[in-house]
Amino acid sequence: MERYTGKSVMKGIAIGRVYLYQKVDIQVTDQKVPDPAAEKERFLAAVEQAKEQLTRLYDEAMVNVGEDHAAIFDVHKMLLEDEDYLDTAAGEIEEGYNAVYAVDCAGTQFAELFAAMDDEYMRGRAADIRDISRRVIRILLDLPEEEIRSEEPVILVADDLTPSETVKLDKTKILGFVTVKGSANSHTAILARSMNLPALVTVNIDLSDELHGKTCVVDGFEGEFLVEPEEEILSEKVVRKNQWVADLEALEKLKGQDNVTKSGKRIDIFANIGNVEDAEAACAADAGGIGLFRSEFLYLGRETFPSEEEQYKSYRAVLEKMEGKKVVIRTMDIGADKKVDYFGLEPEENPALGYRAIRICLDREEIFITQLRALYRASAHGKLAIMFPMIISVDEVQRIRQIVEMVKEELIKEGYPLGDPEIGIMIETPAAALISDRLAKEVDFFSIGTNDLTQYTLAVDRQNQKLEGICDIHHEALLRLIEMTVKNAHEAGIWAGICGELGADTELTEWFLKIGVDELSVAASAVLRVRGAVRALP
Ligand code: PEP
Ligand code: MG
Repeated sequence: MERYTGKSVMKGIAIGRVYLYQKVDIQVTDQKVPDPAAEKERFLAAVEQAKEQLTRLYDEAMVNVGEDHAAIFDVHKMLLEDEDYLDTAAGEIEEGYNAVYAVDCAGTQFAELFAAMDDEYMRGRAADIRDISRRVIRILLDLPEEEIRSEEPVILVADDLTPSETVKLDKTKILGFVTVKGSANSHTAILARSMNLPALVTVNIDLSDELHGKTCVVDGFEGEFLVEPEEEILSEKVVRKNQWVADLEALEKLKGQDNVTKSGKRIDIFANIGNVEDAEAACAADAGGIGLFRSEFLYLGRETFPSEEEQYKSYRAVLEKMEGKKVVIRTMDIGADKKVDYFGLEPEENPALGYRAIRICLDREEIFITQLRALYRASAHGKLAIMFPMIISVDEVQRIRQIVEMVKEELIKEGYPLGDPEIGIMIETPAAALISDRLAKEVDFFSIGTNDLTQYTLAVDRQNQKLEGICDIHHEALLRLIEMTVKNAHEAGIWAGICGELGADTELTEWFLKIGVDELSVAASAVLRVRGAVRALP
């Protein structure tokens, strides 16, 4: 048996045969061409042809896997229109190089740029750049499109899977994924999560031909990939797998059920999302609504600010997908670990204590106003609630309210129909928790961000792995702040939820109900598990 470890991006156990997916190795050589102008024409024609292919793929994917997964082909078309990318390739051709080499250079350069970024989502986009470059190169070399063919359900093992490969997969033939490259936000990971299939990325395995067809186990609980395991280990994994499948089936039965204890106490269970696609997972998990849409993800993975129109479309899409269920959208929380170049933020000694979230919004109002306009325009299309992150004072909330009123007046003057969204704040600083009695008089709801509240209360950096041992997530100080916040909310007649990771901690579910938490917002994959914990309570 050979044992490899990797990063689990989806829990679960898959047992089956390896399907080794190896791409044809395209040989790229740098040759000088006699007529660069003609070569540039050939390059531009190939780009056009690639865009036509992408339009066709989009249409096919719409039918096979739905709009959310099809959308990636639209993104690819946009990348193929990126002027920096096109200019880089054209520049090489103008230097006299052949188009294949020029596209390869541009693709490598841009993919490396993305791969080196701090942000996980952005790193995931390196695969998209490689994907579009390969597509153009295949057209230039007159090679057929790549496909994955398999008759039986298999465990797909690959160096990396491009977005176009993942959406073309026959979903009934895949048991799990293992990739050498990839990240938590790579398309393999996103697809695995949406298909509920165990998946590992960054598995350091040699992709030699002998691997193909071998029996293997992907264990997403342990983050391990076993090739040709011994009988005894295989039997253990079969037991674990059956347990997992039984657990999933039991959870499935909870769909459509209420989040209510045996004695009749109920609580809302909502889902946290980061983009429009995640809303689909939230619906599939039977979430009662969206308790936290981390809107900053709309700002990541790009080179310019998202426009009012773009944001409006995303917010509206989520609201429409949730069909009248509440959607709490948090204004952008850029800064700290979520850095974006085009914001032009200066390096800071203590980024978590620095210029982030509402602090940027109240300082650079134009950014804030664009987002608020998009949110209020979207408010006409569903049950929107808006919340603001990193609040520390009543003054901030009052200033936010003034800006909100100004934005609403403008939009009404411009003739937009508006809804009447609830306005809330995140309680994620000890300061906000300690003055929550006063803050409660200014807003319609609180959502407790336990991730930041923990790091600021315990002075434990949430990014520092070394501190995991001393980070007591049930620390009495934290629990007291949560209890105080909920009590102050209720005394002022407003609701209070929890949207940090602690909301999904079922060791605390009973306590949350006891102190009267009104809503728990958790990852879509945790919704049914938490519902099960609520229903098991006396
Ligand atoms: C939190 O701090 O608990 C929270 C939900 O916000 P984020 O994790 O995005 O900082
Ligand atoms: Mg936070």
